[in-house]
Amino acid sequence: MDGIRIDKPREECGVFGIYSTDEALQAAHFTYLGLYALQHRGQESCGIAVGDGNTIRLHKGMGLVSEVFGGEQLRDLPGPHAVGHVRYSTTADERMVINAQPLLVECSFGRLALAHNGELTNARSLRRELMDQGSAFQTTTDSEVIINLIARHGRIPLEEALKRTYARLRGAFAVVGMTPDSMFGWRDPSGMRPLAMGRLRSDTYLFASETCALSNLGAEDIREIRPGEMVIITDKGPQSYQLAEESTQAFCVFEYIYFARPDSVLQGRNVHLVRKAIGRQLAIEQPAQADLVIAAPDSGTSAALGFAEQSGIPFEIGLVKNRYVGRTFIQPERSLRHLGVKIKFNPIDALLRGKRVIIIDDSIVRGTTSVKTVELLREAGAAEVMMYIASPPYIHPCYYGIDTPSPRELLANNKTVEEIRRYVGADKLAYLSMDGLMAAVGLPADKLCTACFTGSYPHPKEDK
Ligand code: SF4
Repeated sequence: MDGIRIDKPREECGVFGIYSTDEALQAAHFTYLGLYALQHRGQESCGIAVGDGNTIRLHKGMGLVSEVFGGEQLRDLPGPHAVGHVRYSTTADERMVINAQPLLVECSFGRLALAHNGELTNARSLRRELMDQGSAFQTTTDSEVIINLIARHGRIPLEEALKRTYARLRGAFAVVGMTPDSMFGWRDPSGMRPLAMGRLRSDTYLFASETCALSNLGAEDIREIRPGEMVIITDKGPQSYQLAEESTQAFCVFEYIYFARPDSVLQGRNVHLVRKAIGRQLAIEQPAQADLVIAAPDSGTSAALGFAEQSGIPFEIGLVKNRYVGRTFIQPERSLRHLGVKIKFNPIDALLRGKRVIIIDDSIVRGTTSVKTVELLREAGAAEVMMYIASPPYIHPCYYGIDTPSPRELLANNKTVEEIRRYVGADKLAYLSMDGLMAAVGLPADKLCTACFTGSYPHPKEDK
């Protein structure tokens, strides 16, 4: 087991866009700040493409936003329009700078840059079709498929090319793209991945995967791009087109459980407050006798607060997270490997000793971190360790832009709750029910994707 790797499904990307009619506006600087706010959605590579009305310049690289961009790189990207991207890649093959986004091509629309969050379920067949027609590919990204489809429509107006391309895509996609003098945003017909839009002053429009990146910059009039909507922004302002019915909406419920930042608002609901409601619901469904409620840092914190409020059991900081253990942490040599998780999370022994402790985590995927966490709490002297999970068992893989292990590696795919309890070594293991999750999120079940819990996939896995 990797002693440091956190056992969670991983969001694969975050996107950002800005378009201003103020020619003096430094879009690269705003995008840098926007990507900082979205860093939790992807930490392996990032990039910013900037348009100045005539051309588009691009800088991208492997690493965090703070590692890839400094003052010099931002100064070399002049212009009032930009799109940016943060990315997490799933395989070693994908972990190459060439796959970092935005992608930039030269086509009959001039330069075209594009960044994508999600996963096309028909990417493979589209790629094959394009290759059969003579297209060559440099990357393994879905974004390159999309950009090729747009570029192929070179003899018609851009707006029409975007509409025709949109109609070919299946699955989950939130896209921002730009030419030197326009920007566009798309959200797939089911609105699976989030994409919001806001305004800064009267002359600047923004797109972002999460509202935290907009509110951080002082944006106002923030609204979500609707499922099936395309917004094109030019110097005449934004123009909205509804390209598909919203009736098939299936927003990813896991954004509320884990992916999104607590200060973001999704579908009109603040993520922290939804997580608190989930914690309250868990306390109603699974009453417990305990001395303390603690959170698996940091993603369990909001739910743990809700659980404590509802149950009357005091909330405490039982595990302290070292925030500076990042991607580049070197795995300790074998004899020290057991220290890996302790370097990341250290328990407060004086608080835990002799106590019956409930630890709230948002989910269990492989269970590897859960085993270590229970061990840590026992070593710290906890009298009882009860693990409460703020979601139903995670049983099925995701095909919509989230990196999850194969069904064989998903603990709940092949073990009962009692078997999982024994595997993680807890005295009690309790999950939130599906009905309880729906009640806490407060949106109609038929407007959400819940496939990783229910196996009910909103879109066929065409190419899988
Ligand atoms: S399968 Fe799960 S993680 Fe994937 S989009 Fe649906 S709810 Fe989200």
